[in-house]
Amino acid sequence: MMEMIDHYQPDYVVRFDADACQCPACQQAPEGWPRVNVALKNQQRESLAMACESAAKAILLDPEAFNLQVSHAEPQGEQMLSPWDEMLNQQCINLAVHPSMPLEVSLYAIGVLLSKAQHYLEKGESDPMLLLAMGEQLAMLAAEGILEQQFGELPPIPQNSLAALKEMGQLRLALNLPMAEKMGVMLKLSELAIMPTSRLEERLKELELADRQVLLFMEQPQIMRNFLIYKLYHDVFPGVACVNYGEAYLQLATTFFRIRMLCALGTNGEGVLPTQTALVLISALSAWELEHPVTAEQNTTSDYSLLCGLSLL
Ligand SMILES: [Zn+2]
Repeated sequence: MMEMIDHYQPDYVVRFDADACQCPACQQAPEGWPRVNVALKNQQRESLAMACESAAKAILLDPEAFNLQVSHAEPQGEQMLSPWDEMLNQQCINLAVHPSMPLEVSLYAIGVLLSKAQHYLEKGESDPMLLLAMGEQLAMLAAEGILEQQFGELPPIPQNSLAALKEMGQLRLALNLPMAEKMGVMLKLSELAIMPTSRLEERLKELELADRQVLLFMEQPQIMRNFLIYKLYHDVFPGVACVNYGEAYLQLATTFFRIRMLCALGTNGEGVLPTQTALVLISALSAWELEHPVTAEQNTTSDYSLLCGLSLL
């Protein structure tokens, strides 16, 4: 008899009606897309590709999107999810859904966890209980407000944000927006690549200010929170058999930085960002990043990439 394994299905998959979507990505996609099955030898996760706009809507808007149904299925995949990787992913998810952590603090805590995990890995230690203990310790520090305080004391490295913003000038996003709105965002993006440094510094400050005033994210905080949970769940973050946690973290932090800056670019002067525009921006960025993944600088350590990632929060 075939051994049965855990099969996960979040609410956003259950409720999704793929036939109804006419977004540009769906029109070009093969049959079955945007449904994705992350099929590992010992676990399966059903999901949707964020590059579909309807999928982005289903994943990001519903506060209950991540209610999981667990069933059992026959294994389809070849790759094993090791107990270490599974625990690391689970601890990242726990930190992402922790009720006393603001989003940035969840991201910070994940960075601290990965830094420790990398050091264990390099010492040849692979007991998942080490990660469990670390996760619990971080949750305790969060509940006491210590983590938020530590996060606030991180030294800023403005040149990292500046470089990340400049690089956004290279993004060529397929934006399914009305022409005027689309051209506006494209223009604002492409000028980032050619701005003199002093002007770019001003622009960064303007966008950081605008980012803190996006009404949509104040009214619907689950959008960014769900995005984080999605990345962790869908990518089995930091990844199956991943060995460079710093690079994985840098990718995650860069994506968050880009979403914040993109949404700030997309707001009007009063902080208004239409929900549909936010969904299109996030969905288009996801499509771009699948084709053009962020990579760590060559010949740098995992710790260095982690620090770079933290500086973008
Ligand atoms: Zn679609």
